[in-house]
Amino acid sequence: MDNQYDVIILGGGIASMTAAIYTAQANLKTVILEKSICGGLVNTTFKVTNFPSKTEISGQELMEQVRDQVEALGVDIREVIEVDSISLKGDLKVAQTDEGNFSAPVMILATGRKPKALPIGAECEQIHYCAICDGSAYKGKRVLVVGGGNSGVEESQYLLSSGVAHITLIEQMGRLFASKQSQAELRSHGNKVDVHLNTLVEAILTKDGKLTQVQLKNTETDTVTKLNIDGIFIYMGHDPQNGLFSEAVSLTPQGYINAGAHMETNIPGVFAAGDIVHKKYRQITTAMHDGTIAALSSADYIRKIQHKI
Ligand SMILES: Cc1cc2nc3c(=O)[nH]c(=O)nc-3n(C[C@H](O)[C@H](O)[C@H](O)COP(=O)(O)OP(=O)(O)OC[C@H]3O[C@@H](n4cnc5c(N)ncnc54)[C@H](O)[C@@H]3O)c2cc1C
Repeated sequence: MDNQYDVIILGGGIASMTAAIYTAQANLKTVILEKSICGGLVNTTFKVTNFPSKTEISGQELMEQVRDQVEALGVDIREVIEVDSISLKGDLKVAQTDEGNFSAPVMILATGRKPKALPIGAECEQIHYCAICDGSAYKGKRVLVVGGGNSGVEESQYLLSSGVAHITLIEQMGRLFASKQSQAELRSHGNKVDVHLNTLVEAILTKDGKLTQVQLKNTETDTVTKLNIDGIFIYMGHDPQNGLFSEAVSLTPQGYINAGAHMETNIPGVFAAGDIVHKKYRQITTAMHDGTIAALSSADYIRKIQHKI
């Protein structure tokens, strides 16, 4: 027997939790299916300084407050749940999970994005994507940061502030793309930071499965260097997390959901919200905007199918 709801929300980031506040307040029985813990990418943001009403707040604290609000409204929050597959055909949308099947007339897709991995396919325990989550293991150590955008430069500063001894930051293009202010702040750390432009990771060298060195290549000069390094933090952009619905839902060539003005997808009863949607600006507030509209559209859809309007 399926667990029956009015609305299933796939993913538990800020887009999802905003949608859940609205669906719960519309008296729709709502479940959030989150493969990790609620909060998504915002959990990994050290300082959020652009959220209205909060001059400065840690991303984790902000997400805990939102999660508490969602839980208090009676939303069923299922974390660390594995969604094996989803079926979007027919009147009932179904999620097959390791906790059984969940079904509802509406599903909101809010699965966000995940960081891109190194294209050389290397993985080891010392490769990370989140300085806040994993940076504390590198106090007094040497770290390579890959990516010269805002994320790479700002997370480098976070790593230095949490005690990392030295950072080598590499960028594959000929300049950094972070804001001028972030670049200036990073350079103020003097000889604790080396920046290499036009540089790629060519190989990861390990001993007994543990990272020992990286091999870097300067693509302008073809020079290859090896660096002793304790950890690597990667900030090379993100890929949409669309694996569960890439066949069924209309996506852009880059893999983002084509959603309409009411966050509807090509499938009746399936809505989308947040970073997984094709759009120009991906921020907490824009994810909240999408979540709000997806939830209100869901309520409208359910009203219509109930009254067969
Ligand atoms: C480094 C960095 C710093 C940022 N700083 C800011 C900032 O200061 N201010 C700001 O406004 N924005 C910031 N952003 C952008 C902001 O974090 C995103 O726009 C926002 O998190 C999008 O929310 P979301 O809910 O759409 O996606 P996410 O936060 O990515 O949440 C998606 C959730 O879905 C879950 N999920 C994915 N696939 C599945 C699945 N198959 N089954 C179950 N669950 C699944 C994921 O685990 C995740 O929890 C930052 C982004 C980054 C990368």
